[in-house]
Amino acid sequence: MSQKFDVVVIGAGPGGYVAAIRAAQLGLKTACIEKYQGKEGKTALGGTCLNVGCIPSKALLDSSYKFHEAHESFKVHGISTGEVAMDVPTMVARKDQIVKNLTGGVAGLMKANGVTIFEGHGKLLSGKQVEVTGLDGNTQVLGAENVILASGSKPVDIPPAPVDQNIIVDSTGALEFQSVPAKLGVIGAGVIGLELGSVWARLGAEVTVLEAMDKFLPAADEQISKEAFKVLSKQGLKILLGARVTGSQVNGDQVTVNFTNAEGEQQQTFDKLIVAVGRRPVTTDLLAADAGVDMDERGFIFVDDYCATSVPGVYAIGDVVRGAMLAHKASEEGVMVAERIAGHKSQMNYDLVPSVIYTHPEIAWVGKTEQALKGEGVEINVGTFPFAASGRAMAANDTAGLVKVIADAKTDRVLGVHVMGPAAAELVQQGAIGMEFGTSAEDLGMMVFSHPTMSEALHEAALAVNGHAIHIANRKKR
Ligand SMILES: Cc1cc2nc3c(=O)[nH]c(=O)nc-3n(C[C@H](O)[C@H](O)[C@H](O)COP(=O)(O)OP(=O)(O)OC[C@H]3O[C@@H](n4cnc5c(N)ncnc54)[C@H](O)[C@@H]3O)c2cc1C
Repeated sequence: MSQKFDVVVIGAGPGGYVAAIRAAQLGLKTACIEKYQGKEGKTALGGTCLNVGCIPSKALLDSSYKFHEAHESFKVHGISTGEVAMDVPTMVARKDQIVKNLTGGVAGLMKANGVTIFEGHGKLLSGKQVEVTGLDGNTQVLGAENVILASGSKPVDIPPAPVDQNIIVDSTGALEFQSVPAKLGVIGAGVIGLELGSVWARLGAEVTVLEAMDKFLPAADEQISKEAFKVLSKQGLKILLGARVTGSQVNGDQVTVNFTNAEGEQQQTFDKLIVAVGRRPVTTDLLAADAGVDMDERGFIFVDDYCATSVPGVYAIGDVVRGAMLAHKASEEGVMVAERIAGHKSQMNYDLVPSVIYTHPEIAWVGKTEQALKGEGVEINVGTFPFAASGRAMAANDTAGLVKVIADAKTDRVLGVHVMGPAAAELVQQGAIGMEFGTSAEDLGMMVFSHPTMSEALHEAALAVNGHAIHIANRKKR
C-alpha cells in the first residue's frame, strides 16, 4: 500500500472538494481523487457545478440577459443604441474563461489547505482501501480511515431522443452552441430546461419546451408556478404540457421530434434539441463487488441522515445520494461529514435547502408550499406582495412577480417563503436565515429593511401575513 490517509474523497465536485478542504482544515490528512478532464485536456476540479453546470449556465444566462435588455428594455430608460448584436463564440469563450478561473481557484484552495490530489479514477475496495487508476493507466491503492464518495450525477438519456452532442444535445452540449439555433426544442420543463431554453430564447431562438407532465413546476408553490408559466410564456417560451416524446429523426442539420399530447400525435422540427429530463447518480466502477456499500432502489448510494453508508467509515454526499441535486446541498453535506469524521456533532437542516430557477424573473423558494401545508392539514396565514407595488422594482423596470410568505396560523412561525421576481434567490435566502432561527412573520415584519430595496417586498409580504402591510391593501384586516 503506497500511502495512508485519514480521509480519501472520490470526486472533486462541490460536495467532494468542500469536504476535502474542511477535513484538511480540521487537521485530517486528506486526499481527493478526480478524473474529469476539462476542455484543455487537463484535470479540472469543481465537478458538474463549475465545469458544466451552475456556473457556466449562469454565465450564459447573464450574457443573454444583458443582450435581451439592450435589445428590449434600454429604450424604456431613454437609451438608444445602434443595432445590438450577439457574438455567440465570444459569449461562450467568456463562459469558458470563468470556468477556467474557478476550477483553477479550487486547485489553488486544495493546495493551500494541504489536500493531496490524485488525477484519475477512484474505486472503493473492501477494507476502506481505494484504488486509483491514473491517467496513464497505472494503479495504486490508498489506505483510508474514512472514505467520502462524491461522484455526482450525469444527464439521463432517453431512447426516443439519443444525444449526439451535435443536433441532439444534453445540458453540457447546450452550453457550447456556436450560433443561435433558429428553432430550438427542449425536452423537459425542469430547472435546467427552463434556464437553457431562456438563454437561447433571449438571443432570438424560437423555443418550444416539451414537458411530459401536465403540471408546470410541480415542486413550486402553485400560485408561483401559475404566475411563472404566464410570464415565461409571454417571454416567448412555448411550453407544451402533457407532451410525451415518442421518437426523433435527425435529417441533415435538423431533427424532427414526434410526441403525443391531448390532441394526439404531433411532430415538430428543430435545428437543435436539448434533452433535459433529469440526472442520475454516477456509480460506474465506483465500488468493488465486495465493497459492501448498499444502494437504494433508484441506484443512489444509500445513506442515513448524516450521510453514513452501510459501511462504517464510508460516507456518500451530493448528487450520488438521495435528496435535491443541488450544489449547495452537496457542499453542506461535505462540511457535515468532514466535521463528523473529526468528532463534531454537525448536522444539516434538510427542510431548509433553498431552490432557485435562474430564469428572469427568478423563481426561488424555501420551506413548504401552500398546497403541501394544506394537504397536511396545517392551518396557515399567507401574505403576498407584488413587485408591481415595489418602488425599487419600478425604478429598475423589473416588476413581474411577487413574494409570498406562509406562516403557521397558530404560532405565526414562517413555514415557507416563495418568490418570483427580481433577486428572488437573494430574498429567499433572507427567508431561509430567518426560518433557521425560527422566525415568525411578525419578527420579519418588525425588522428594519433598507429603502428602497427589493427586500422590502419580503418585509411587506411578512406584514401582510397578519394584515399589516402598508404599501398594499390587506386582504385580511387586523
Ligand atoms: C446545467 C446545470 C445547471 C445547474 N445549475 C445549478 C444551480 O444553479 N445551482 C445548484 O445548486 N445546482 C445546479 N446544478 C446542479 C449541480 O451542478 C450539482 O448538484 C452539483 O454539481 C453536485 O455536486 P456533487 O459534488 O455531488 O457532484 P458533481 O458536481 O457531479 O461532481 C462529481 C465529480 O466526481 C468525479 N467522479 C465521478 N466518479 C469518479 C471516480 N470514480 N473517480 C474520480 N472522480 C470521479 C466527476 O468527474 C465529477 O467531477 C446544475 C446542473 C447542471 C447540469
